[in-house]
This record gives sequence, structure tokens and C-alpha cells, in this order.
Amino acid sequence: MKKILVVEDELKIARLVRDYLHEAGFAVIEAADGAAALQLARAEKPDMIVLDLGLPEIDGLDVTRRLRATSAVPIIMLTARSEEADRIVGLELGADDYIVKPFSPKELVARVRAVLRRADATLGGGEMIRAGGVTIDLPKMRVSVDDEVVDLTSTEFDILVTLARHPGRIYTRAQLLDAIHGVSFDSYERSVDAHVKNIRRKIEPDPRRPSYLLTVYGVGYKFTDA
Ligand code: CA
Repeated sequence: MKKILVVEDELKIARLVRDYLHEAGFAVIEAADGAAALQLARAEKPDMIVLDLGLPEIDGLDVTRRLRATSAVPIIMLTARSEEADRIVGLELGADDYIVKPFSPKELVARVRAVLRRADATLGGGEMIRAGGVTIDLPKMRVSVDDEVVDLTSTEFDILVTLARHPGRIYTRAQLLDAIHGVSFDSYERSVDAHVKNIRRKIEPDPRRPSYLLTVYGVGYKFTDA
């Protein structure tokens, strides 16, 4: 049974999340503040953490930062609608996904399952990434779509690989810039959009309605996990 650490200082929400995760077949442990969360994460080694960003004293972003110093445990942030900037910082610190309050319990359970599935898939690693008709051969730095090789620039290749290694995981433009660091040192965030446009032109059956490289409005991009 997968064990999930729920970190939430609002009792009502904590109880709701716990009950629905229980019902969905997960073991749940709980913390109501950042210090307890860090301590439980170390002691109990949960399979995932559902983390409220607005916590007393050590807030959710600090918890994420400290966790990521030593751990790759999947993290889903619970955020208020007004916390958009924090959400992006959280993703940049390495959180895997976020849910905006108020959320439906169904949505929460679906996100938890999706992130756990991705985490399991990522453990496999490997030198080939396949998704739909797209195949990425990492050692050869070669991308093909429906068995036809497409020519990507090294910048485009790096962006595509970064996204495709973790299907469904959202990357901000800043994170994608990090991934191509050293290739285009003078680029700025909007240049990522231009690269993405080029990648889509090369790999998407219909670049105007992308099926692989998806836009997450207001945040960044992700590779499909459908
Ligand atoms: Ca809170």
C-alpha cells in the first residue's frame, strides 16, 4: 500500500484529504506544520507528499526546498488561487504538480494516482523514450516520428528530452531555460516559446493542436502522459 504524507494546517481540509485518500486505498500520515512534515518525511519515507503551501512558520516552499536537498519524493502542492507566483516557485524547486483550492476530492485522487504512476515510470530510466509515435534515442540524440527521423537543433533536442523524460510533469519556462543552459546563454524566457514552436512544427501531426508538447497556461509546458 502506498503511503502518503498529507501536510495541511487547516483541520477541515486535512480531514477531507485524508478520508478520500484512505477511501482510494492509500495509507495516510499527517502533519499540520512544516517542521513535523520534515521530521515525518525523514522517519516514515512516504511514497508521496501532499503539501499545503500556506503553513505556519516553515511554509510549504521552504519544506519543498529542504526536502529536495535530500529526497526525490513526489510532491503535490495544495495552493490557494491567489498563490500563482508561489506555485511557479514551487515547481521550480522541484514539486511535481499542484492543485488549486477549492478542489474536488476526485481531482485530488486522480492527480495523486497520476503523479505516482509517473514516479514509478521514471525509475525505469533507460536510453529510449517512446510516447505515441515519437521515439527519442538518447545516445544517438535522434528523434523520430512514426519511424521518420526529424532534425532538431541541440537546443530543441534538450528541451524535448527534458519534457519527455517526465511525461505529465509541468516545467516552467525558467526550468526549461536551465535545461539548455550553456547552449543559449543570452536567451530569455520567451525564447523557450520560440523553441517549443519549432519543436511542434517538426514533431506534431497538427502543430496548432499539439498532442505531445502541451501548453500549461500561465505556467509553462509538459509532455503528454495520455
Ligand atoms: Ca494553510
